Amino acid sequence: MGVLSGLKQAVQQVAKRPGPRILTVTRAGRLTPNMIRVVFAGPELDDFPEGREGANCKLLIPEPGETRDAFAARLSAGPAPVKRTYTVRAYDAARQELSIDFVAHGDEGPASRWASHAQPGDFLGFAGPSTPKLTHFEADWYLVAADPSALPVAAAALEAMPRDAKGVAIFEITAPEDRQEIDMPAGIEAHWLVHPDPHSASTAQEDLIRSLDWPAGRVQTCIAGESGVIRALRAFLAQEKALPRKDTYISGYWKIGLVEDEHQKVKRAEG
Ligand SMILES: Cc1cc2nc3c(=O)[nH]c(=O)nc-3n(C[C@H](O)[C@H](O)[C@H](O)COP(=O)(O)OP(=O)(O)OC[C@H]3O[C@@H](n4cnc5c(N)ncnc54)[C@H](O)[C@@H]3O)c2cc1C
Repeated sequence: MGVLSGLKQAVQQVAKRPGPRILTVTRAGRLTPNMIRVVFAGPELDDFPEGREGANCKLLIPEPGETRDAFAARLSAGPAPVKRTYTVRAYDAARQELSIDFVAHGDEGPASRWASHAQPGDFLGFAGPSTPKLTHFEADWYLVAADPSALPVAAAALEAMPRDAKGVAIFEITAPEDRQEIDMPAGIEAHWLVHPDPHSASTAQEDLIRSLDWPAGRVQTCIAGESGVIRALRAFLAQEKALPRKDTYISGYWKIGLVEDEHQKVKRAEG
């Protein structure tokens, strides 16, 4: 493809990209003590694509007390609302219901605060979704690792895996009661680790991963969570296990002490 036609195609794609839609909460509540599930429904989901569980999306958060009209005006003319990245946990096309799971990490984060107070009839802006992280399941052995922020992507990947898949899934949760039922293949060995203070660094996932008997054959990963943990795991997988990048989904989803915009800046700077 020539430079000009490539440019034209890129411009057309941007022009086609739909603007954010405003979604309405139909129900919201604690899934587990430290996780809130918010379910959205309504005609704004009419053309929502199926099969996007595990894909990320951008949520645009209204200010406390902001009316829907004022928020809609702000979406089209600015100033832009606070934007945060989340994961499509489930979409039920028959009922036109979209579920997003939010870590309840207190009121200092606008998204966590919004979710903790969400009631039927509340709204937010939604842009996306992208496409799921893991779509070609070709490994002999899978390594899944997640802290609470990555439970939605990990659960979606495990649910989509072939039923004869083998591997290990490690979940680091805040309290034992945060354990969730996940429909994963019988050959996936699940480990639930408890780390009660997410704001202190943890090496529990890395310690466990280092202690595993590393199998022969092709390995694919779905790993996400706090950036410090991810940095250590990324180095281990790339340098000590020489895992090719194409088989390695590994991503920092948040960073202790940074709001999302600052964390994204750090990620961009690190390439
Ligand atoms: C691709 C992708 C998908 C994601 N999917 C999800 C998802 O489905 N569910 C989900 O809950 N999160 C998800 N995250 C993480 C989420 O974007 C961040 O946690 C985000 O910072 C939350 O915004 P906030 O407004 O609540 O807090 P912010 O305003 O960004 O941060 C406020 C403070 O809270 C701290 N903080 C942020 N996140 C956490 C956390 N998880 N635990 C403890 N402290 C925290 C920050 O360090 C900061 O000190 C995803 C991130 C990415 C990149």
